[in-house]
Parts: sequence; structure tokens; C-alpha cells
Amino acid sequence: MRRLLLLLLLLIPLSALAATPWDGQPNHYRVRIDDQAIRAEVEADLWLGGDMLSMFNVMTVPGLPDGQADLIEGLQITDLAGRPLVLKKLGGGDYQVQGGQRVRLRYSVRLEHDRHPWPAGMEEVAYHTDEGLMITGATLFFADGGDAMQGPITVEFELPEDWQARTPWTPVGEGRRFSVASRRELLSNALFLGTAAAETFDVGGVEMTLVLGKRYVANKQLFVDLLRTQLASYAALFGGKPLSRRYLIIINEHASGDGGAFASSFSQFIQGDADARNRVIWGYVMAHELLHFWNGLSLVPADHREEWFKEGATDYLTIATLAQNGLIDETLLLKRLENVPRRYLIARMVQGLGMSVREAGKDKQPNRQLVYGGGSLAALALDVELRLRSDDAVGLPQLLRALYAEFGQPGKRYTLDDIAWTAQRLIGHDFASFLAGAVESGDYLDIRPSYAALGLRMDSFVEEMFISREPNATEQQRARFAAIFAPTQP
Ligand SMILES: [Zn+2]
Repeated sequence: MRRLLLLLLLLIPLSALAATPWDGQPNHYRVRIDDQAIRAEVEADLWLGGDMLSMFNVMTVPGLPDGQADLIEGLQITDLAGRPLVLKKLGGGDYQVQGGQRVRLRYSVRLEHDRHPWPAGMEEVAYHTDEGLMITGATLFFADGGDAMQGPITVEFELPEDWQARTPWTPVGEGRRFSVASRRELLSNALFLGTAAAETFDVGGVEMTLVLGKRYVANKQLFVDLLRTQLASYAALFGGKPLSRRYLIIINEHASGDGGAFASSFSQFIQGDADARNRVIWGYVMAHELLHFWNGLSLVPADHREEWFKEGATDYLTIATLAQNGLIDETLLLKRLENVPRRYLIARMVQGLGMSVREAGKDKQPNRQLVYGGGSLAALALDVELRLRSDDAVGLPQLLRALYAEFGQPGKRYTLDDIAWTAQRLIGHDFASFLAGAVESGDYLDIRPSYAALGLRMDSFVEEMFISREPNATEQQRARFAAIFAPTQP
């Protein structure tokens, strides 16, 4: 008996140390935006598993050391009984607070993100238009800073009259209340709150909502056609749909012309008008971001070292599918193929970046030219190498399909070894040494042999690059070029 008592006493502190189980209640956010969209007032009712409350994806900019978190005002936190809890600011958007309990949060977000120079551009943070506000979930919401959020998540908006909430989340009832599948879906998504025109359409079971700034409404059909065509190509390329079933695309005008992809959405700027002539620019960005719904967001690299594959294979396959779909003609295709080695050359020779293409992913924005240019050159070289070694039976599309079948599932991640092993499994040759040469070395990758294998000739003098069809190309080289780039419909 005494021994049992002793055992019980010993057990008490142990059980006290174990995490308090989730209380079974949902997490709820309520967001109120004023008429001028100057502030977002947020109230949240959250289960906090651990002792950390966080704003994610915080980026430092001049004047805002804690980035987006420095635009938060009046943060108050209480327990369920309304007793204030002690918050300790840890920096980088993190706060320490007593967890293992349900908390109530109140704070406001100063919606002045468009005044700051965000490293990836304000299209990935928040901005206003005269039709409303684009904002990402990470810019708006605090969340459990641990491994995940427990319990269902709902978000409700209180907006100025006539405004709509456009989100990739599942609507619950009348339009302004949404059910959100996970913390990732909550934070890694772009939202548009306002009056901008929107159109929802279905492509092969994937529901797309396109939000268009008013400058672009007249050309809506150009966007819808490109999205439909490219989506069909990607579904065929990867052998299936992307992980999410509902996507949101937000397009507005801004000189940067840049875009950013999120879990189930992307946010894009277009410079000036959008027409068929400058589709070579805006259509390229749109097709690239759309391809990320598969490569990058469904097929996810283990870490920054495979950013080259995420961005480079995406860029290369964007070029190939735009050409296949007749959205760029051969003249524009060859110009695109000239730009790829030029970006790489700028990274290596002008910027003097000596690290490998893999390492460049660690600091993606400053090393952009090496990640994208070097990454797409490596993807092109890999495609050609696969075809050469398999007598043209296997190329990058087959490799991606095999990778997608194995790694395109929630929580799964791939590494460079997985790419090498999958290639080896497909054609029975070792690819590790080829990949090491292409992406793990700081040496200059000579792309001319790869172009030659496609019946293309690259003449260059420093940054001047001219790609043309080689008149003496073999039948096989021409057929290889056609297999990758030729329009599939006359
Ligand atoms: Zn990208």
C-alpha cells in the first residue's frame, strides 16, 4: 500500500508535465474591416497547445524589425474567464504565453503594408486597390506557434457594405463565413476583400475563382482561356489534380508585374494592360504560378536546397507547355530559351555568385537569378539527359509524374536523392553524378550540348545569346525538340 501510494505520488508530477489535451472546441476568427480599410480588427478564440503564439512568415523591412508583426496594435490576450494572460515578446512575431488552454485574442492590424518594401513584393503581403484589399492570412492572423493547430478553424468577416470576401476556403452558409482545413491553409493564402469582379469556373474538378481588378475585366476571356488550357496540360503532365480542390487567383495592376503562389491561391500584378501581345509576360507569370499548385505546393521539397527544382522545373515546363499550347510561337519560344542561360550568366558573372545552384536556394530573393536561371538550365539539361539515356522513351514529364505519384501527398517531402533514385528507377542509369554536376557544383554549366541535342544552336558573346534551329540537326534531334515544344494542336 505504501509502495502504491509512493508510486501514485511519483506519477502526479509526470502527468502534470504532459500536455493538456485539446478541449474539443473549434478555433474561430472574426475580422472586421472599416470602410477605408485602414485597420483590421481581429478577435480570435483559439486553443493554444503549447506556450507560443505566433505570426508566421514575418519579414524584416527597414523601419519594421519584426516586419508584419510591427503593424499589430493593442494585442490583448485573456483566458476563458476573461483574466489577462502575460505575454512575453520574443521577436520575429513570436510571443510566449501560458498554453494548454483556450485563449481569447483581440488586436488590430494597421493596413499600411503597401508603404513598405517587402523582399518578395507586396503582392505576397497586403495592398489596397480602389476596389478593396488583398491580404494574406499570415499578415492577418496569429496562430498556435507549435507544430499545428488542433481542432477545426473558422473565419468570419465583417466588411463594408457591397464588399465580398474572396477566399480559397470552404464557404459556410452566406458568403462571409468560411471553414479552413488547416493552419497552413489559414496562413498561406491570399484573400481579396472588396468589390472587384470575380468569376468561378470548374476545370476538371478543380474550382477556380478569378478576381480581376477593373482594368482587366474586359479581357477576362484571355485569362480564363490561358488558365483552362494550362491547367489541362498540367493535369496531364503530373497525371492528376493538385492537392487542393478550390483555388483563388487575384490579379491587379502594378508596375512590378510579379506574382506569388500560396497553398491554394496566387496573387499577381500585371504592368499596364493585359492583351494577347504582352501575354508573353503576364501569361508566363500566371502559368508559372499555376504550375506551382502541383510542383511546389503538392509536390514539396524537403528544404531550400531543392528550390532550384521547384522554381527551375516550373520555369522550364512553363515555357514548354506555353509553346505546346500555342500561347507562345517559335520566335518567342527561342527568345525564352535565350533568356534562361542569360539569367544564369548574370548570376555567375555579373553578380559573381559562386555557390552551387542548390545552395543558392538558402537565400532565394538575392540569389533569384541563380535559383531560377540555373534551376531551369539544370531542369532542361536533366530533361535532355533522360531522353538521351532512354532512347527518348523518358523525359522530365515522366520523371515528374513518378515523383508526383509518390510524393504528391500531404506531409510528404522529396530530396535530391529522391529525384536521382526515381530517374534511376525509370531508366536504369545512375543519375546522382549527373545531378551533382548540374546543381551541386559552382562550376559553369555549359548548356550548349543540351541545346545541340534538341537540334538548337546557341551562339553567344558574353551576355548576347542567339538560339536558332541547327540546319544540320539529325532527325532524332528534331523529333526530340518537337516532343518537348511543338504545338499539340494545329
Ligand atoms: Zn515560382
